[in-house]
Amino acid sequence: MIRRVTYYSFHVSELVYLMQMKKEFKQFRPSDRRLTDLSQSTDDLNYCYEALKKVSRSFAVVIQQLPEELKNPVCLFYLVLRGLDTIEDDMNIDNTVKKEMLLSFADRINKEEFILENVGDTQDYQDLMLHFDKVIREYQKLGPEYKAVITEITHEMAIGMNKYAHETVESYKDWDDYCYYVAGLVGIGLSRLFLASKLETSPKLANKSLSNEMGLFLQKTNIIRDFAEDLEQGRIFWPEESWKNKANTLKELQADEKSGLAALNEVVINALGHVPACLEFLECLENQQVFRFCAIPQLMAIATLKELYNNPEVLHKNVKIRKGRTAKYFISIKDFKSTKKEFISILNSLEKKDHTGKIKSILAEIQR
Ligand code: MG
Repeated sequence: MIRRVTYYSFHVSELVYLMQMKKEFKQFRPSDRRLTDLSQSTDDLNYCYEALKKVSRSFAVVIQQLPEELKNPVCLFYLVLRGLDTIEDDMNIDNTVKKEMLLSFADRINKEEFILENVGDTQDYQDLMLHFDKVIREYQKLGPEYKAVITEITHEMAIGMNKYAHETVESYKDWDDYCYYVAGLVGIGLSRLFLASKLETSPKLANKSLSNEMGLFLQKTNIIRDFAEDLEQGRIFWPEESWKNKANTLKELQADEKSGLAALNEVVINALGHVPACLEFLECLENQQVFRFCAIPQLMAIATLKELYNNPEVLHKNVKIRKGRTAKYFISIKDFKSTKKEFISILNSLEKKDHTGKIKSILAEIQR
């Protein structure tokens, strides 16, 4: 507590942002625009937003940035994928059964209001699956243009989950492929939902590779940050190419700071390679709310990478950015210009420590 008080007395502006964000979060309520038809639908939709808050607090906060029209499609897109992932992550399901469950999932949500009992690693996930009929009913009320996107992406993700049930991520190329399935597809799906809403019109949003890199940038950042936490469970999601030539085992990598940091800096720089595409994507957004929804997580990711770079603590614990910093982005980010400026400022500070010249060339690319 003492540390906190001291900290915030030196970062008073961040404290103000933090309080403002708390206020915004309290006001968060699901969109009630569509709560008109059936009396039951109120409960179903409310359940969906409550479940979203439980399974991903950060996504629940960022979703309120969106225009009303997009809130429900994006919320349900998230919950459907969360349902799929809950099945994938449940280690108590027999592999053959699981494969079938994953591959039939996208089709089933269009045909039946099913629930799953005793599926999920945590109470919140189990609860989501136990009430999945509510998610499906709300999903089925979406316009056909939204449902088509959600169905297609969900099915392709299921294919990827089955693929990586057997394969390991060896090269950086594999890493891109793995992240495409778990996150790039989310970026591609979101772009298509934006276009379907007609609130965004840029043909660049239909460019799969730009949307993919938006997802890759976020996913790689999380994977890098979660090193210590994942290692405790005996696995990590860094590509083998980043560390196998530096240590024999992951434990060895963790214990030898020099090798550990070399691998860490390598993966951070690889992730930063997505920045030019991310900025190109953000620049073509026309709706300010959609822009904020996309830009805030990207800014949090690059701020996180700044904290992770060359930081030996990453090898032993989960390093996070300060809450005040997050709040600052939530409240203050409004347009592309200020976002790009923040990206450049962070890259400039990293560039001073980077001897590979790679950050320098990323900077040159975005300032061209
Ligand atoms: Mg999973």
